[in-house]
Amino acid sequence: MAIIKVQKGTKDILPAEMPLWHFMETKAQEIFTKYGAKEIRTPIFEATELFARGVGDTTDIVNKEMYTFEKSDRSLTLRPENTAGVVRAFIENGMHRLSAPVKLWYKGPMFRYERPQAGRQRQFHQVGIEVFGIKQPTADAEVILMAVNYLKALGLNDLTVELNSLGCPNCREEFKTRLKAVIKPYLANLCEDCQSRYDKNPLRLLDCKSTECQEIFAKPEIQEVIHGDFICEECADHFEKLKNYLDALGIKYERNRLLVRGLDYYNRTVFEIKSNSLGSQNAVCGGGRYDSLVKNLGGEDTPAIGFAMGMERLASLIGEKTEEKLKAYVVSNNTLEAVKLTEELRNNGITAEFDLTNKKFVKQLEKASKVADYAVILGEDEISGNQVTVKNLNTSEQKTIKKEEIFNLLR
Ligand code: ATP
Ligand code: MG
Repeated sequence: MAIIKVQKGTKDILPAEMPLWHFMETKAQEIFTKYGAKEIRTPIFEATELFARGVGDTTDIVNKEMYTFEKSDRSLTLRPENTAGVVRAFIENGMHRLSAPVKLWYKGPMFRYERPQAGRQRQFHQVGIEVFGIKQPTADAEVILMAVNYLKALGLNDLTVELNSLGCPNCREEFKTRLKAVIKPYLANLCEDCQSRYDKNPLRLLDCKSTECQEIFAKPEIQEVIHGDFICEECADHFEKLKNYLDALGIKYERNRLLVRGLDYYNRTVFEIKSNSLGSQNAVCGGGRYDSLVKNLGGEDTPAIGFAMGMERLASLIGEKTEEKLKAYVVSNNTLEAVKLTEELRNNGITAEFDLTNKKFVKQLEKASKVADYAVILGEDEISGNQVTVKNLNTSEQKTIKKEEIFNLLR
């Protein structure tokens, strides 16, 4: 019979890779908890409308990448990202009544219908943060700090923080108008995506990866507009203060004026963290401020800022983590005594297994040396004397001790 294979763009995370995933997950919990963040888990599917409104219907995510299906006349979508879901949960559970800041972190699978390639899957995992209720740039600094410190805790240092300010809806309008005016003569030469972005979301033009478009945007008159400081005084002040905080904290960053990010709802601060050692899929973290989203989704006006990191990309940077061996393997031809002792070891917090098939003693010892740090040997003499023989499988040292002593010895 033909075997059924895993779907294109999806992957099994096998037991051998689990130490690495547990490492990323426990570090997330450890680091984000230090900053006062609490974990939240939202459903993997939501109403399609949530993403249309919450991510923005001019984005690639909503236009091209969503897994959408109908069930009982309802249009549902597998979450392509988690900010919209967290904001929905924030509103629905009245979290604006909690004392600000409300800091939430999450981890889990996301789904995007994209062309699979290195660092790009259709089901992938993100870990992320959302901080609600603070409009001051201190929150921006703290969110960037959380990202940088999490990456440090993973042992990743060869990274660059890219920073930009998109201004606010007021100052951005003028920028958009100027940008459109200066690009207009080249409109017919832009790629198909950019031609439709030109009217719907001109800022996203800057984000285009096509070389023909990049060549056009490199023209001096367009560069002049891009590099002209368009943001208003308040936005500029916010950005200056953020940079001062980052400087004071010793966080290095680079201004990238082309950084606009894919999502529609960002305002003021946007940032990405890029690896200097990944190929073209080199962004490990993307984030920004989204002060209007909570209100746009029907909640109380609440400023917010957050980020998401791609865990597969983190995993490929961290490299392998070796699987932990069992602490003890019980070696005995008396299955009944073996099962009892193994269970007692586990109840005392020691990872342990024994031979379920009662193979020859020597075979059991061979297996023990492959899978465990210690062999706990229960021969007839040991059983009658209420003792065990412990063999350190790394040094081959062995000694016979009272049975009760084994628990303290191995714990
Ligand atoms: P990209 O420009 O790489 O498509 P993006 O702007 O679509 O990224 P975000 O929506 O900001 O990505 O998601 C945050 C992070 O999630 C990215 O920086 C990346 O590490 C990861 N990510 C996004 N899409 C995928 C994917 N299809 N497969 C694996 N990781 C992904
Ligand atoms: Mg993308």
